[in-house]
Amino acid sequence: MRVNSLATWWLVVLLALCLGPLRLEARVDPTHGFDMFSAQEEVQAGQQAASQVGRKLPLLPDSDPITRYVQHLGAQLASHAPGEKWPYSFHVVNQKEINAFALPGGPVYVNLGSIRAADNEAELAGVMAHEISHVVQRHGTRQASKQMMAQMPLTILGGIMGRGALAQMTAQGISFGVGSYFLKNSRKAESEADLLGTDIMYDTGFDPHAMAQFFDKIEKQGGTRGPQFLSDHPNPGNRAEAVSREVATLPRRSNYRSDSPEFREIKQRVSGMNPLSAPPIAAQQDPSGIRAASAPESDASPSAGMRSFSHSDFQISYPENWRISGDQNSAVTIAPQNVVSQNSVAYGVMINDFEPEHPNASLDQATHDLLASLRQSNPDLREIGHDENIRVNGMAGKSVDLIGASPLQDQRGRVLQERDWLVATKRRDGSLLYLVFIAPEKDFGSFRPAFEQMLRSLQLR
Ligand SMILES: [Zn+2]
Repeated sequence: MRVNSLATWWLVVLLALCLGPLRLEARVDPTHGFDMFSAQEEVQAGQQAASQVGRKLPLLPDSDPITRYVQHLGAQLASHAPGEKWPYSFHVVNQKEINAFALPGGPVYVNLGSIRAADNEAELAGVMAHEISHVVQRHGTRQASKQMMAQMPLTILGGIMGRGALAQMTAQGISFGVGSYFLKNSRKAESEADLLGTDIMYDTGFDPHAMAQFFDKIEKQGGTRGPQFLSDHPNPGNRAEAVSREVATLPRRSNYRSDSPEFREIKQRVSGMNPLSAPPIAAQQDPSGIRAASAPESDASPSAGMRSFSHSDFQISYPENWRISGDQNSAVTIAPQNVVSQNSVAYGVMINDFEPEHPNASLDQATHDLLASLRQSNPDLREIGHDENIRVNGMAGKSVDLIGASPLQDQRGRVLQERDWLVATKRRDGSLLYLVFIAPEKDFGSFRPAFEQMLRSLQLR
């Protein structure tokens, strides 16, 4: 008897296990795609960008009642997000434009303008569910990964392959900060976010149609130019219909949440505020992700004033109108900020280290190892002339001139020839520290004095 009831109990457990997944049958699966970022790197990339966003955008403090409300609403929605449990966080930008965006690995931002434009809590929840869905499906890093693959030769040149996606991202000047190209979503990513957003809305108790209604409304209000939101989240076409199709696969429901006293109170508060106006997006754009352009030399010209950068391996001066990508422990790129096009370096210097095959290799041998590895992975790269022995601020160094393909094009769309001036010097541990000074061949002469000045300032640690 006892054995029998135990068997019955097990049967019930087994049945429950089998039936369990059925409850999820109607939900869409989050999409996946090629992604060079591990989950941990994804979170780190998002956090790096979040600290930049915090410096550049006027965020309301976490203690503000509006932020607290948005955080509360966001947490409810995020608890119904499928897939990886990203560390979601929610922030309010004190700007009147209708906008919202999400960074890889969890940070979600909503403008005051979006709260103002929402007629009820469900509409605001719709924008947030949509942003959460971009996070779930890793749209930002998937897009960046494609870009990084396309730029692989540069990665190999920088010797940073195998160092992880973050180091590669940094060396290629990619970021997810304010105005980043990688926060602009494709129409395909948009429909994926709408579909998943529909499920999240439904599971949180909101009518998913409110999400599509809100997008349609801001599109109608926006006129020809439309708000920033729509250029970053382009309409994939008939959002409302897609939402309806997905809702039709879910159990019928009538008692949706639509509004709340909390939302009304927050709306009231927002209407009494005077949010700031966002500067034109071009003014806040990062060097990363600007479309490839034939940048005129004048934009890149190094200023006479110099600034100093301290790395854990070295110290160097650089033109004060140039900008550092990387940090004191990584490979570093120093480049004019307005001509780092499509995440590759057209002008500037990359600084990195290289482990020769034999730890006791001479400077000569180690430099040849380095050149061999660069040439192997960059068939375009040609040595011109011979390598020379030089003094680098009192240290023995090697200098090699190379020719390669510039990321820039001339007015007829032909790829410009690039000059890469490689300088290597030996570190105390036997590895090489090397610098590659980069400019299109036609401009190299005018940049050379600045490059030489940088080199004279170099000090190893
Ligand atoms: Zn979107």
